[in-house]
Amino acid sequence: MNTPSTPSLYSCADEYDPHSMTVEQARSVIARYLKPVAGTMRVPVRSALNRVLAEDVLSPLDVPAHANSAMDGYAVRFSDLAASGETGLAVAQTLLAGAAAQHPLVPDQAARIMTGAMLPAGADTVVMQEQARREGERVWVAAGQRRGQHVRLPGEDLSKGLPALHKGRKIRPAELGLLASLGIGEILVYRPLRVAFFSTGDELVSIGHPLEPGQIYDSNRYTLYGMLTELGFDCLDMGVVRDHPVALENAFEEASRMADVVITSGGVSVGEADFIKPLLARLGETVFWKIAMKPGRPLAYGHLGESHFFGLPGNPVAVMVTFYTFVRDALLALSGISPVAPAPRLRVRTTTPLKKAPGRTEFQRGIVSRGADGTWTVRSTGNQGSGILRSMSEANCFIILPLDSGPVPAGEEVEIQLFEGIL
Ligand code: AMP
Ligand code: MG
Repeated sequence: MNTPSTPSLYSCADEYDPHSMTVEQARSVIARYLKPVAGTMRVPVRSALNRVLAEDVLSPLDVPAHANSAMDGYAVRFSDLAASGETGLAVAQTLLAGAAAQHPLVPDQAARIMTGAMLPAGADTVVMQEQARREGERVWVAAGQRRGQHVRLPGEDLSKGLPALHKGRKIRPAELGLLASLGIGEILVYRPLRVAFFSTGDELVSIGHPLEPGQIYDSNRYTLYGMLTELGFDCLDMGVVRDHPVALENAFEEASRMADVVITSGGVSVGEADFIKPLLARLGETVFWKIAMKPGRPLAYGHLGESHFFGLPGNPVAVMVTFYTFVRDALLALSGISPVAPAPRLRVRTTTPLKKAPGRTEFQRGIVSRGADGTWTVRSTGNQGSGILRSMSEANCFIILPLDSGPVPAGEEVEIQLFEGIL
């Protein structure tokens, strides 16, 4: 339905070495398969927050509908104003926002006007009250005004008949207000993306159960739940699935039946749980990549029936890094957003030295902060082990060190990606 069946993923990936993929190569292979979900629905404007427009919205009217004042002051005819010295004008009417102007402005007249009030016919310029001197029924206007100043022109915000918003736009607070300014009560949006996920591993225990020796609590499902929910997707948490071929096959089949996207964590390292690879080869088409990145080296991507599949590594930090590096943008594209803007990156100096060996792109965890002198710098959260989830909790950015870079001394500029910008 939404997934191209040919050319196969394997042939697509052939031009790459699956044992050594760069982050960019993997992103571009995935990008070839991303088409928005088919379903759409008409919803009231407020329910559309964080949803994605499925059609262009044409403006049914000019906004503003009439020329109006951007300031409290006096509406005048620019041609009445003297080039030098003050000009005296008779104040003929007072115009408040919301009322239509009653009389046109004749030569040598001014109208007292409030912000948002309609300009009377004949007026083309507004003089701020701070530049006018009122004397009873007359007003004296200082020289040096510009023709057309402080006037909002009809249609300068939105023009009737032209697209006010394009298909693929995520509806944020600004879009809600913009739609309201057009008097639009309902819009067509894509249905929310359905994402099923489960953890794999015999050592995993769900919260609420005591830990036996050798067991650990499953944290990846909680991280994934949080990341997916915050992005506005419908989540289906399928729990922990044992490293057992039948259990895994059932889980994969159920997940792909119910969801547009299936995400798993664990079991994608080489040599581990060998049945996952043949199982996925039978159920769909999937590539297992070793990405030249840290953390997050193993990653699987493919299709299970109509669904997209992401097999993330097991380590908790690697799950978050690979989600934000590959999965986030892919899911946004599937949910209809177009174009998907990658999370912004900035350059700042690091105040701590950063350990790094050439050969892999590293996503280290950093804390960016503003110093007393106003400059922003970043420091490392310390231990960068891929199981240390505390580093993600303390961090507010990734420090992205490129493939070829070696260790970075303190004081050097590095690239960072703000967590806030990702959401
Ligand atoms: P794996 O890729 O399955 O070999 O897992 C790599 C590491 O991540 C192992 O130390 C696992 O115990 C750990 N791990 C895997 N899944 C989870 C999970 N859901 N929550 C916490 N740790 C996990
Ligand atoms: Mg495992």
